[in-house]
Amino acid sequence: MTDRTPAKLAPRLLQGDRRALARAITLVESGRADHRAQASALLEVLAKSGRQALRIGLSGTPGVGKSTFIEAFGLMLTAQGLKVAVLAVDPSSSRSGGSILGDKTRMERLSRDPNAFIRPSPSQTHLGGVARRTREAVALCEAANFDVVLIETVGVGQSETLVAEMVDLFVLLMAPAGGDELQGVKRGIMEMADLILVNKADGDLKPAAMRTVADYAGALHLLRKRPQDPPGFPKALPVSALADEGLIKAWEEMTTLADWRRETGHLERRRAEQARHWFEAEVREGLLARLREDPDMRAMMAQFGAAVAAGETPPSVAASEMLKRLRS
Ligand code: GDP
Repeated sequence: MTDRTPAKLAPRLLQGDRRALARAITLVESGRADHRAQASALLEVLAKSGRQALRIGLSGTPGVGKSTFIEAFGLMLTAQGLKVAVLAVDPSSSRSGGSILGDKTRMERLSRDPNAFIRPSPSQTHLGGVARRTREAVALCEAANFDVVLIETVGVGQSETLVAEMVDLFVLLMAPAGGDELQGVKRGIMEMADLILVNKADGDLKPAAMRTVADYAGALHLLRKRPQDPPGFPKALPVSALADEGLIKAWEEMTTLADWRRETGHLERRRAEQARHWFEAEVREGLLARLREDPDMRAMMAQFGAAVAAGETPPSVAASEMLKRLRS
């Protein structure tokens, strides 16, 4: 497809053209070797723009109000003149064949906003593929001059960790809960959070939401102090996505934290560490792919595997033989 070549796409994307951005994301999602080459060339060209957005991860279990929140929060940001991109990471979509996250029909008003861009999670991609696609989509959104990139994920499994490893800030959206439920929140997830927003703090649910905020605030206080946090963070706050309450306050807290991290160098260091992490992950993935896809390597794996199973060769010896061949 000629209009997907970097030379055609790059200038339009740099001007913020949303169709060019959508095309470019389709390109980085493609598994075809020629598309991969074009995607790499495009990303290299665009990296020169040096543009950066605030990258925010948002996680929460289904029903907590993620799409309602993103729509209201996104509209609040665009009303301030900011450009907002929403990307979804939804590993479950490989099973269901379609994504429930980042769905435009869930965020109809935001998707019609010319300063917003919404992209659902692609289907049929394994978690490693989703990670690469999402990182690259973030880079494309940044080159297209978006100020804020929101990465939405469901609060299950590894997808949260994956998102936390590609963002500047990680926000957990929670529902009002009884005290017992609070104990069920995994410590690891709490440790990832920079901000816990207790949604649905409205109507009959408000008292429960306020109690939940206090409970989370207490729990966060007990966590180890992190060097990347100014005093008072991580924080818990009440919001109502439906009533549009607390969203400006939540944004103020996010910018306070981001500014502090920027000024102290934490943000830059975090991005550098993340880049290194993803580079190493790509190398690992590439090596594994070579083992899987190269017929010679596969044959050797089978051979050594059989020798190990038969007790003829110790596993470590066979493995180091394999690794020697990988070098050539
Ligand atoms: P998601 O599955 O996390 O994306 O959640 P949705 O945004 O689809 O919301 C799930 C349900 O919660 C819907 O019925 C929403 O109307 C409702 N909801 C979302 N935000 C709020 C809120 O702030 N207050 C109240 N009362 N209900 C909300």
